[in-house]
Amino acid sequence: MSKLTENKAAPGGPQELNSPFHGLGIRNSFLVGFATMALFMVIVMITALGTSANMSRSVSHILDDQLPVMLVTVRAARAADALASSGLSLIAVRSDADRALAFRRVASAQQALDLALDELTGVTDTQAATDVITLVTELNQNLQSLTTLVNERLSLLAAQQRARNQLISTLQAFQQELTFRVRILESDSDVINALVQRPSPPVEQIARMSGNTAPLIPLSRFYAEVEAIGGLLLAATQDPTLTALAVSEQTINQDLQVASETLEKLPSDVSSAINSHFGDLRAISQSPDGMVGLRQRELTLLNDGEALNEQNRQIIARVDSAIDALVETRLSQFAQASDMASSANRDSQWLLLIISAAGLTGLVAFFYLHVLHHLVPRLTGLGETMLGIAAGRYDVPMPAEGRDELGRLGSAVHQFRRMAMDASQREEELQASKQKAEDALNELEQKASELEQLNNKLETLTLSDALTGLANRRHFDEVLSREWVRSTRSKQSMAVLMLDVDYFKRYNDQYGHQQGDECLRRIAGVLQARVQRETDLAARYGGEEFSIVLSSCTEEHAASIAEQIRAGVESLQIPHDNSEYGVVSVSIGVATLVPAPGNTADELLRKADVAMYNAKHQGRNRVMCAEPCR
Ligand code: GH3
Ligand code: MG
Ligand code: MG
Repeated sequence: MSKLTENKAAPGGPQELNSPFHGLGIRNSFLVGFATMALFMVIVMITALGTSANMSRSVSHILDDQLPVMLVTVRAARAADALASSGLSLIAVRSDADRALAFRRVASAQQALDLALDELTGVTDTQAATDVITLVTELNQNLQSLTTLVNERLSLLAAQQRARNQLISTLQAFQQELTFRVRILESDSDVINALVQRPSPPVEQIARMSGNTAPLIPLSRFYAEVEAIGGLLLAATQDPTLTALAVSEQTINQDLQVASETLEKLPSDVSSAINSHFGDLRAISQSPDGMVGLRQRELTLLNDGEALNEQNRQIIARVDSAIDALVETRLSQFAQASDMASSANRDSQWLLLIISAAGLTGLVAFFYLHVLHHLVPRLTGLGETMLGIAAGRYDVPMPAEGRDELGRLGSAVHQFRRMAMDASQREEELQASKQKAEDALNELEQKASELEQLNNKLETLTLSDALTGLANRRHFDEVLSREWVRSTRSKQSMAVLMLDVDYFKRYNDQYGHQQGDECLRRIAGVLQARVQRETDLAARYGGEEFSIVLSSCTEEHAASIAEQIRAGVESLQIPHDNSEYGVVSVSIGVATLVPAPGNTADELLRKADVAMYNAKHQGRNRVMCAEPCR
């Protein structure tokens, strides 16, 4: 019988593995795992959302607050630039049409700047914005001065045009007065030259003519000088600077002096004719409203305009620097916000990375330590334990019991083991009972066999004769009756032999009773040897008498068998001194018949007995048939 004792879980076995989550079943393990994962995901999402919200706030702060201020500031700067550049074009104005166009541009630029400044003051009140507004005010004042300057210049240009026209009129007057005289002079000169070229020049005529033309010679020079002064005056109106104009003025004054001196050398009629024109030329040249004076005033105006434009450029430079300061402030705020956002983003990325890594590490550790090193070995151990118990090994390491699924499964395994052990015990008891029953059955079968043998023996004893081993009288009667019936049915003859030992009383008396018994056994042996057919039977009828039934046997055959038996007994040569034959002999009566209605087996038996007594009376040791034997 197996050793049916409770085994504790094997120390150090798989069921004993310690886990930080010991006692946590499969369902709770996965709940803990998923809850941890969900918690980390929530933390990650909250962190990501927080970072996103911060960055969104930073970006919206930049987009909603900072960027508009910067854009408005830049727009104001551009408007100020445009206004300043429109002021630059004022200097180039030389006509009413130019002026109207330039003034429209200035007005438009001023309007745009006013709008930009309104926007700027609407979104910021920084020092830079205030500076810009102050500077723009200065710019506007300068532009106002430039406007005035433009008007003055246009007046000057008109006066210049009038002076130029006056100059041209004066020069034309000179031309009118001097040209024909110069031509006369030139033709006289040509004549003189022609006369001089002659082989014999007419000296007197030449001298006379030269004397007449001599006073007119300065006329030509004077004309040239006047023409030169006119050219200088026209050139002076194009002088780019006051310095160049001063040089031109000096030259013009000198030329006027020279021309004045030449004029004085001219004949009086000529000089009286052109004196007023020369006065006009002098006035055009030297009066404050003359061409030089007007050009001087224009250049002064242009210088003032340049100075104003220079001021404007400086103002714009200051505006630009103020705007730059403003923009830089904004840009630095952008950069700061961007840096903060980047830093926050980096921090949050690190945070997310650390949280995610921690979460993943925790999950991996949880599943590695708990699931792989705790649950799986417990499950494996449970499986091995179940297989061991199923194989009948009850000393396998038993799983730990607990309240989790595996613990309950462990309890079930314990229960299973107890039931398996009980079943095994019952099986063993059953096997023992079965063995007992089989032993009892074998014993019973043996007893039955012995009983059957005893019964057979008993039956043999009841049907046989104890001394000789032949059938007894009872058996003989049964066979006779059976064979009688069969012969009756088959209508075949049957025979009965009755045998009696001759003088057997004497034999007993002489040789003793035991010897007599031996003699009977030897005679029985002869009978047994001669009666071999299955249906035939030799029996001890009683005392020293024997009977034989022969079925399907004719009388002849029966007589023959009877004779063989008689001869067989005689041949035994058993000494019998008190017999006339000297040996033991037998007398046999034979009766044969075919059973017919009215006949009985007793009748056949009686006939054989009668025949046997007849054989006695006939001298013994012989065979006699009931009917005469054929
Ligand atoms: P007979 O020739 O006329 O038959 O003479 P007998 O002596 O044989 O006849 P009887 O019938 O007078 O004697 C029979 C004797 O057989 C008597 C008895 O002692 C003997 N006998 C009968 N049964 C047995 C037996 O079982 N054993 C022995 N030894 N003798 C027996
Ligand atoms: Mg007898
Ligand atoms: Mg006898």
